[in-house]
Amino acid sequence: MEKTIYKKIKEFKKIIIARHIGADPDALGSSIGLREIIKETFPKKEVYAIGTTSSKFKYMGNVDKIKEEDFYDALLIVLDTPDLKRIDGIKDISKYKYVIKIDHHPAIDEFGDISWVDDTESSVCQMIIELVYSTRLKINKYAAERLFMGLVSDTNRFLFYYTTKKTMSLVSKLINDTGIDFTNLYDDLYARPLSEIRLQGYMYQNLIVTENGLGYLKITDEIIKKFEVDPASSGNLVNNFNNINEVLVWVTFSEDTKQNQIRVNARSRGPVINKVLERYNGGGHKFASGARLKDFEMMKDLVKDLDELCKEYKKNNK
Ligand code: AMP
Repeated sequence: MEKTIYKKIKEFKKIIIARHIGADPDALGSSIGLREIIKETFPKKEVYAIGTTSSKFKYMGNVDKIKEEDFYDALLIVLDTPDLKRIDGIKDISKYKYVIKIDHHPAIDEFGDISWVDDTESSVCQMIIELVYSTRLKINKYAAERLFMGLVSDTNRFLFYYTTKKTMSLVSKLINDTGIDFTNLYDDLYARPLSEIRLQGYMYQNLIVTENGLGYLKITDEIIKKFEVDPASSGNLVNNFNNINEVLVWVTFSEDTKQNQIRVNARSRGPVINKVLERYNGGGHKFASGARLKDFEMMKDLVKDLDELCKEYKKNNK
């Protein structure tokens, strides 16, 4: 698989790298990292990592603006995106000459002339490191840092279950080969404004926990304003609720008045939640999913379904 992908990269002069909307460090790290890797290996190629700029993750690097119509003869590589509707900046993939999909989410839409999808991989950044080490692609320090940050972020500092022996040995090789100063990178990844830490305190205090082990919390626009944060803030904090004895699944509902929707961030340390979230215009990984709801009305139903899931899980896992 990796060799075939390398051959296609070698073959095309113009390459576009896309990833999902609402980019996170794995999406940004893999797309920007791969752009730098291809440029390092083939300096004459035109390579662009596209998608909306993220001011929150600006330390991950800059993204490129392109006029799509000028690139239909290019190779399009879609990273970290299981479904067509969530590809950022690409209207219709069928217009492109050749498409490669590389992803670690459970598949939703089958697409791509080549599709390398493996949900046992910790992150797409890990897959890009593998791609480098199984081909003649060259990596530099800047790209290695991006990939390291994306991988660390998606595994929640090597905590999540899909952190494997392979993850550790690839990271170790990456550090050895490129000499990245990895402890310094944590500042960017984990420093938070005080306002967000105060919101975290509010979330800990107000999380509602059911008998079955579902923790949930509604974060209204009023709360967001009171804490001087934004609708994405609770999503940045949701991983910090991972080790609560009484909580198996936890979910936050944040009001986003600008987008006129409710952002849902859900996590689990047992029950598989993505199938439930898929029924609510969302999806994701087995234990880390998200969704967008029209209003708080639907929250009740989702809470009920997740609570039921916890109950079932507890019954079967005494
Ligand atoms: P988040 O809670 O935003 O960090 O998202 C956790 C996981 O769920 C990520 O893998 C996302 O790709 C996925 N996800 C988040 N929101 C959605 C959505 N609206 N539709 C499908 N998948 C989503």
